[in-house]
Amino acid sequence: MRVVTKEVTVQSRKRREVINVTSHVEEFVRESGIKNGMVLVFLPHATSALFANEDEPRVRRDYENLFERLVPADGNYFHNEIDNNADAHLLTTIFKQFYVLPIVNGELIRGTWQEVFLAEFDGPRNRRMVLVAIGE
Ligand code: ZN
Repeated sequence: MRVVTKEVTVQSRKRREVINVTSHVEEFVRESGIKNGMVLVFLPHATSALFANEDEPRVRRDYENLFERLVPADGNYFHNEIDNNADAHLLTTIFKQFYVLPIVNGELIRGTWQEVFLAEFDGPRNRRMVLVAIGE
């Protein structure tokens, strides 16, 4: 069994933004040389998350509306007394900060409408994204 790791930087440009990072994951899987196994995508952050779904302009707006319905940006939060980003922390607890996808015959396995997204909740800033491929 082999383990290959890589860290990439993803730059967000808005406070809340969904960024398609699928190409980073697929490129890493190709570079890794791992033919069968799995890839872990991990964000070492407390105000951003990962999910996998369709990348289409209208559904992107629906994601933004969902975030606002779940945790309104201008809500009344205790943490805002020190940091003014409580909504970002709360959204991050609802979503995952890691994702695991299978690698089969050198290909990343995902559904046709399943792009990997980094969800930024407290941008703009640079986000570290750690990739770990495990297999042979
Ligand atoms: Zn904070």
